[in-house]
Amino acid sequence: MQTMMGIDLGGTKIEIALVDASQGVIYKDRVPTPQHAYNAILDAICALVDKTVSQQKIERPTSIGIGIPGCLDPATQLVRGSNTVVMNGKPLQHDLQQRLGCQIHLQNDANCLAVSEAVDGAAKGCSIVFAVIIGTGCGGGIAIDGKAWTGKNAIAGEWGHNPLPWPSAEEIQVAPCWCGQVGCQETWISGTAFALDHARHTGEKIKAEQIIDMMRAGDLAAQQSFDRYINRLARALASVMNVLDPDAIVLGGGMSNVDEIYQALPNALIRYTFTKPLATPVLKAMHGDSSGVRGAAWLTQ
Ligand SMILES: [Zn+2]
Repeated sequence: MQTMMGIDLGGTKIEIALVDASQGVIYKDRVPTPQHAYNAILDAICALVDKTVSQQKIERPTSIGIGIPGCLDPATQLVRGSNTVVMNGKPLQHDLQQRLGCQIHLQNDANCLAVSEAVDGAAKGCSIVFAVIIGTGCGGGIAIDGKAWTGKNAIAGEWGHNPLPWPSAEEIQVAPCWCGQVGCQETWISGTAFALDHARHTGEKIKAEQIIDMMRAGDLAAQQSFDRYINRLARALASVMNVLDPDAIVLGGGMSNVDEIYQALPNALIRYTFTKPLATPVLKAMHGDSSGVRGAAWLTQ
């Protein structure tokens, strides 16, 4: 098996990696995402591929995997559902194939996370894996036997835009999500949403990491914000358990680095699942920030 090339096209950065099946990531580079211009995104991806090929003195690969927020519309092959909104309606796969002269395997970024963690990560050996990205936004992805499960309409796993279940009166009265719906889970359980919720309750406009630091230092308001977050995450994941009942749930993205989540979530989750107890582990992505780009590389196999 030759070295695989993967690209993780995120809302804030574009990352490229060369992945060896046995050694893992052997080369990695990243640039900021030019969020407001589609052509600049294409230029940045092509420049990263050229730089990697030249620096590593390798031949240009015949296929490259790429993970994106959103998916390709199966009927039109145009991007839809991306929170980097300039990509929506654009033939990203076609344009990259034209410009790079190779086959492009494109998949939702949370599906890439699910594949990476199912192949040789935290959920290695698990047949059905539900992976969650809780960072700037919130997405879900499904891997079955190590392969991304896309679904007939390419929306399998797009659970971030389900409404938050069992909403309180406060939770019903929120600003609309960027997708046009109201009450999406993304507006409650992303890292961004965690910080916004804390600001609504306390007037403190601080980052998610700072809230966690304050909680660890014994701050009551920060602890209450975290408790609300856990309860919401539990409700959101209970709906997944009741439909898919996966062998493992894997968390990725910035919030997945908060170790207290893994202590608090199991007890919160069984309050909302149809049956209990649960045998399903909730695991931290083993490959951390690299999981998305690793999963993208595995798409080429
Ligand atoms: Zn939404």
